[in-house]
Amino acid sequence: MNESYIATEQDVEVIKQVLTFLKRSELDFIFKNRRLLDNTELVTYDSKFAYVIQQNGTFKKFAHGVQLSRTDKLGWRASISIPEIRRELSNDINYISGPVQSIFIKSHQQRENKSIYTTTESYGATIIHEFGHVYYENIKNSWFSNYDYNVKLMNIAKDLYNGKETNLENFEIRLPRHLIESETFAFCTEYSAAKYFWPEYKKQLDSTGLETIDRYLNQETSDKLKNEESVLDESHVGAYVIGKILMEKLGDKWVDFILDKKA
Ligand SMILES: [Zn+2]
Repeated sequence: MNESYIATEQDVEVIKQVLTFLKRSELDFIFKNRRLLDNTELVTYDSKFAYVIQQNGTFKKFAHGVQLSRTDKLGWRASISIPEIRRELSNDINYISGPVQSIFIKSHQQRENKSIYTTTESYGATIIHEFGHVYYENIKNSWFSNYDYNVKLMNIAKDLYNGKETNLENFEIRLPRHLIESETFAFCTEYSAAKYFWPEYKKQLDSTGLETIDRYLNQETSDKLKNEESVLDESHVGAYVIGKILMEKLGDKWVDFILDKKA
């Protein structure tokens, strides 16, 4: 879709509705400490404007002047990947960002491989998935996502190399975890939201999970990926596999399992 598209009131309204789902008590077992999501705002964009939406529903918009790429049109993420939009925003707030619903759905309809992301429900589930990532990253990290901590780490190492006396007794060393943890957490969050709010979409998730595993299992076994990377290292594939087993084995306790009971 190369034609330009400007969001309607409906596009903004859909996101506000997702925020009401996010706050529903069915998801309390996941977001036990909801304060960890408070500092997060949503940024959505159409061909011309970016819209910053706060969790109380208020929003502001500004022109971004960017030609959206295919990736920009297909997905939401727990960050902002478009520099022209990023630089207009605060460094002290977590953002999740993605295209407005109309662009998202149309881009998925035009994919060569059949996509389940072509409904309002799937759009909502995608945004809830990103809140799963934000929550996880606030408790653990799957990458060096904390700027202040990173600068501190490097300064301490510098001091040590310089032979400077450094007291490390109270310094906590935190290493990023494998991305599979964050992805499984976000997948299980999306899956739970689907189970409670969007049963039709849950059915689609199940059939896509099955198709995906069939396809990748075939590759794993035909290429005998014994001494190489497993297909499970593709974190979205891994999350389909691990997430389904975790939720079945542990019920709601999958949250504690992944977060080491840290929330
Ligand atoms: Zn994800």
